[in-house]
Amino acid sequence: MAIREIVTQGDPVLNKVCHPVTQFDQKLWDLLDDMHDTLAQSNGVGLAAPQVGILRRVVLVINGEDRVIELINPTIVSTSGEQEGLEGCLSVPGKWGMVKRPMRVRVRAQDRNGNWFEEEDEELTARCFCHELDHLDGHLFSELADRLYTSEELDAMMEEEE
Ligand code: ZN
Repeated sequence: MAIREIVTQGDPVLNKVCHPVTQFDQKLWDLLDDMHDTLAQSNGVGLAAPQVGILRRVVLVINGEDRVIELINPTIVSTSGEQEGLEGCLSVPGKWGMVKRPMRVRVRAQDRNGNWFEEEDEELTARCFCHELDHLDGHLFSELADRLYTSEELDAMMEEEE
């Protein structure tokens, strides 16, 4: 297991459509294990394979119970409601933006052995499902935000609100 380098905005790998996973083999498991290590070290709540330079439909999402969910070939089955909140990305370091997402999201995916399952969640985890799945189609959250803020700008906004 190893920590992989997280690529950042500007790298063309982040704008490509990822290929489905067809082989549930040691190579996939090594990728998943490395993604676990990389995510654990980065303090993020989700990571998509293209963020470590691999164009495969693989994502990790940490849910509200701190469980890391492995999603392979995931699709969104249904959504409901709406939420608007601050979003950031390990591939867009130091920048945040307000993004609208569904409040509740149900995804269908395969596990590391190829078995299909469904997972439903809300709030931050629902946001994370949408954000990570967007990565698999070459999209970044910044495309959905009117503007991006630095941490200094966010601090200033918080102070104004107090
Ligand atoms: Zn991201």
